[in-house]
Amino acid sequence: MFENVGHVLYHVLIILFPILFYYQFLHKGAIEQTTKVNYRFLGTLFVMLVCTMSFPIEVTDGSYYDQKIIPFILAFLYGGWLTGLAVMVSMLYYLYIIDESNLLVMMLNYAVVSVFLVVCTNIYRNMTLKKKVYITSILLLLVTTTRALRFIHRDEPGEIFLTVIVSVITWISLVTAIMIIENLNIQMRLQHELQRSEKLKVVSELAASVAHEVRNPMTSTRGFLQLMSQDDNLSSAQKRYIDISIEELDRAQSIIQDYLSLAKPNKQGLDRINISVEVRHVLQLMSTYTNINNTMISHHIEEELYIKANKDEMKQVLINLIKNAIEAVGKGGSVCVNVSSNHKFVLIEIIDDGVGMTPQQVDKLGTPFYSTKDKGTGIGLTISFQIIELLQGKIEVKSELGKGTTFTIKLPVSPSTSSS
Ligand code: ADP
Ligand code: MG
Repeated sequence: MFENVGHVLYHVLIILFPILFYYQFLHKGAIEQTTKVNYRFLGTLFVMLVCTMSFPIEVTDGSYYDQKIIPFILAFLYGGWLTGLAVMVSMLYYLYIIDESNLLVMMLNYAVVSVFLVVCTNIYRNMTLKKKVYITSILLLLVTTTRALRFIHRDEPGEIFLTVIVSVITWISLVTAIMIIENLNIQMRLQHELQRSEKLKVVSELAASVAHEVRNPMTSTRGFLQLMSQDDNLSSAQKRYIDISIEELDRAQSIIQDYLSLAKPNKQGLDRINISVEVRHVLQLMSTYTNINNTMISHHIEEELYIKANKDEMKQVLINLIKNAIEAVGKGGSVCVNVSSNHKFVLIEIIDDGVGMTPQQVDKLGTPFYSTKDKGTGIGLTISFQIIELLQGKIEVKSELGKGTTFTIKLPVSPSTSSS
């Protein structure tokens, strides 16, 4: 066996090197399953396959060892069933060229494994790295066991020992390959995310500076419109036009305010605030809005709950979420606001029975400029998530399409001993 160490190392290298080469020179992003075939990844797998099959190690007389199962497994798990099929067919064809003695058994074996892999691929994608390693290890164990059983059946116990050793080496190569792919995938995604947020920073700073410049002329226009509306000679229609203009200017103002806080989250000092009182204030403030929309809004508010936060920012978050809920339920719907606490956290729930969202939509929440509304800006939630995160809190979302949505804000309780 020892004279084969170099040969074994060659097989390990021929699996790991193409993956590293792919990420260094060929990649166009993370290796991920899509319906389209990633030809560069497929090419990489072919190289692995040909190199490992061309120079197998002869462990005992007539019994050869290589690592063709690794590109085969990776093809299904990371390339999808089409890539997997391509690799399997090429593998069997190459096997047919170099040694056709075991072809039928091989075909049967790999067909069974490929069915298992196709079933696995969909769940595999959402697994944690640990589970991915477990499931591939179990798969490899199954393959090894069937091989070992064959030797037991043939009464060749010496072969079993060798099978176990080569299988351990294959297992180490496979797990290492999966870890490299997963880690490099994470790095690719982080890099992508960083580029995106860098772009966003530039855009939001630009938007903020424009918004700042636009605010002043708007304030003076609003002032003059207000003066004009006090003129007694105006007809009622003219008065109504002026009122509408002022309302629209206010709406523009509030959008601009949102953009400004997107660029500059308030990092001023935090106070110990009574959140029960603040929620009541906001509900009062929103009552005109709910009246217009004919929305029932109920509440259960536990008294005297304190958190550390900035009052204005907290109000802004509550207004954003409650307004979204009211918009989601439409006319005649109902919204419920609950404030409660366990020992550590204050929980503010905003529950609506409105349109709801799909899991994909929920995933997108908080992404800047994501909005499904005609007049939406898509920054209300971005700011809200940002503010709550800065307060060491969390916003959790549960939603079902057509049934409704629950937003839960979790914030640490501010104990009474702390100074305000
Ligand atoms: P905007 O309200 O301007 O569209 P937001 O950031 O407040 O921007 O919300 C982003 C998107 O999230 C909304 O367009 C909507 O599709 C979705 N959304 C937010 N809250 C709810 C809710 N309670 N029910 C259903 N969808 C919601
Ligand atoms: Mg909104």
